[in-house]
Amino acid sequence: MSESSKTAVKKQTGGRVPPEPQPVQQPELHLLEDIDALFSQAHDLRGTLQEITKIITQRIGTDVCSLYLLDSKGERLTLWATTGLDQTAVGKVSLDKHEGLTGLVIETREPVVAPDAMTHERNKYFPETGEERFHSFLGLPMSDKDKILGVLIVQSRSRRRFPQTEVRLLRTIATQVAGIIVQARVQDSLKTKERERQDYRARMLAAIQRPSAYERRRAQQTQRPGRASRLRLTGISASPGIGSGQAHLVHPVVRLDAIEEHHTNNPDAEIQHLRTALMRSIQEINALKERVQERLPEIDRAIFDVHRMMLEDVAFIEKIETQIQDGYAADTALKKVTEGYVETLERAGGEHLRDRAADVRDIGQRVLRHLLGLEEKSGPQGENLILVADDLSLSDLCRVDHRQLKGVVLANGGATSHTSILAKSFEIPTVVGVEHAAVIQQGDAVIVDGNAGVAYVNPGAEIVREYSRFDREYRAFNRNLEEIHDLPAETRDGVRIALGANIGLLSDVDFAKRHGAENVGLYRTEVPFLTYSDFPDEETQLALYQRVLTSMEGKPVTIRTLDLGPDKYPPYMKLPQEDNPFLGWRSIRISLEMADLFKVQLRAILRAGVHGPVRILFPMISSAEELLQVKNLLTQAKDELQREGKLFDPLMPVGMMVEVPAAVWLADRLAQEVDFFSIGTNDLIQYLLAVDRNNRKVASLYEPLHPAVLNAIATTARAAQHAGKRVSMCGEMASDPLCTLVLLGVGLDELSMEPFFVPVIKRLIRSLSYTDAQSLTQEVTQLGTAREVKGRLFSTLKDLGMIELVEMYR
Ligand code: PEP
Ligand code: MG
Repeated sequence: MSESSKTAVKKQTGGRVPPEPQPVQQPELHLLEDIDALFSQAHDLRGTLQEITKIITQRIGTDVCSLYLLDSKGERLTLWATTGLDQTAVGKVSLDKHEGLTGLVIETREPVVAPDAMTHERNKYFPETGEERFHSFLGLPMSDKDKILGVLIVQSRSRRRFPQTEVRLLRTIATQVAGIIVQARVQDSLKTKERERQDYRARMLAAIQRPSAYERRRAQQTQRPGRASRLRLTGISASPGIGSGQAHLVHPVVRLDAIEEHHTNNPDAEIQHLRTALMRSIQEINALKERVQERLPEIDRAIFDVHRMMLEDVAFIEKIETQIQDGYAADTALKKVTEGYVETLERAGGEHLRDRAADVRDIGQRVLRHLLGLEEKSGPQGENLILVADDLSLSDLCRVDHRQLKGVVLANGGATSHTSILAKSFEIPTVVGVEHAAVIQQGDAVIVDGNAGVAYVNPGAEIVREYSRFDREYRAFNRNLEEIHDLPAETRDGVRIALGANIGLLSDVDFAKRHGAENVGLYRTEVPFLTYSDFPDEETQLALYQRVLTSMEGKPVTIRTLDLGPDKYPPYMKLPQEDNPFLGWRSIRISLEMADLFKVQLRAILRAGVHGPVRILFPMISSAEELLQVKNLLTQAKDELQREGKLFDPLMPVGMMVEVPAAVWLADRLAQEVDFFSIGTNDLIQYLLAVDRNNRKVASLYEPLHPAVLNAIATTARAAQHAGKRVSMCGEMASDPLCTLVLLGVGLDELSMEPFFVPVIKRLIRSLSYTDAQSLTQEVTQLGTAREVKGRLFSTLKDLGMIELVEMYR
């Protein structure tokens, strides 16, 4: 060995110091033990491999030991560690898996021995390594099970043969080293994942801490020192009652809109992550349901099941997982799918669907929170709390001590969102859709008037005084209403009016009963239909109607067939683009065009009649032909059920809504065809007065006491009476105390309304005389303006000492 080649053999520097080589009889055993000892340190792969090469050269007494590792695709070999070759070549020298003697080892998967490597036909020379000085070559495959991970090479300057014992020993070592590589790679990938998770969490938290649009609005609107000045904020009443206290602002822990687009190259791990988050969300929902168990009726508890069902919904999960397979990280996939649902529901329009959208967002944010491993915030503490938020989740509402919760004010949300339904069940005054809720600051004094849909912020002394008085009276009045809960709505001179409830969701049934409704005067079946992902089949509908009937315990239920319209299209129906949707494809027109689906509903309603007294009601009839067509389909449905031997009510009373002016003009003729009329003033007023019922701009023109409206009602009532048929009203006018006198006077048999108003209207009717009401109606239907009508009604009620009641509930 020349002096120059001696210096070419590099001295090892750095790395851990191996045990000093000892002149022992069993060098093999020591070698194996030394390498085994490195197993525990295998978390730094490069350093460990370097150490191994050093030990091997020392123990075997060879000049060079190098380790080449295959890349993740198994295509290229790279020099990872060496003792004996030039250190600067480490990480740089790389060759194809078929190149050189090293490649031969990979191909044969066997040790390759070359006493004079330089003359071997497969030799490939890398000048960077300085290996021209080394003649003998022994390469061994390093494999884990069937997978080759790399090649262990020893080289020596002298031409030498490698004895079998040495080859065997190095083979064992190669297997040991493979084990070290596997272990280090596992740890490495865990570390990378953990690092990715940490990065991701940090990015998410940063994104979440960025203010939402609502918070930005809040910041803009509250850039003023001190408390908000006195403000009156209007919204929609979602739960009645009066509450006052201090504002507590609620912010979601995470928001979907804060998520930025992230990608993944490990979809399996992301899917696993998603599934864990879904599972935790379900556990949380179940725990929440249990927590509020004794405070809620069975029907309202079902809200939690709806959320759970969505978390278990195969289509929902598959959609997210498909996005993940397409390369999106779990949070981005969740955001995309959830927002897709929300957008469809919001675009479909209508209050009910918008409210379902809020539920879906709530569910998405719950899963997102679990994806991020964040806990829910603990509920606010303190007395007389008024929760103020953009939107509240179910948990937000359930986490507060209800004895201290006096009211809720929401910027978004609708009256039929699940949170609003719960607020109603908990009897917490709630106002939703308060556009400027963002001005309210933490600690502001707030009065929530859930009857009027108004929130007062830092009210003046006079408002506080007024509301304290009102609150006292309201409580006393409610006690009084409870006393008449089981009494009929009967005038002083013995005329009875049936008071029914308008319902949509199953949860309304309990509310109806609590307020003493004698029947369901209007079951809007389109409302539950909006919550399904497709048209419910006959059995599903039957089960639904049966639940309502069972809950009503033998009281009559008026089931209205689908009344789909521009404000209530289910997400599974194609939305037509129309210039005048309220004059277009809606209600009974849709049902008649989709006769097969319509007949499924008719059959389900007829069959439900076996489980309790049912009346069937057809919406938006505008001609006799239409009514006859509907009745014809009803007859067909009955014949089919008869043939199939299915039980149904063959004598089910048939009614129609009078809500189109044409029906008023044809009332005499139409009355011959039905058992009852139900006047739908919500639509009748908009069609009679040409005023869109949902357009705020023309809201002041929407006048129930318009003489034209009163005369249309009187005409309809008379036609029904002449034909000996019953006539009721289910539009909102039926719950307006100022209108009660006239409605009584025209001879309506029934009034159906939002359950909350049943006791109020009952109280009013019980203090009126039917004869007086009749003569007053005679008089006001002659008046020419709404103003005169109202003036006359106000003064009559004042004389009767009922004016406060009207003011309180109007
Ligand atoms: C009405 O039009 O008065 C009515 C009760 O029907 P809806 O409000 O469901 O259209
Ligand atoms: Mg209507």
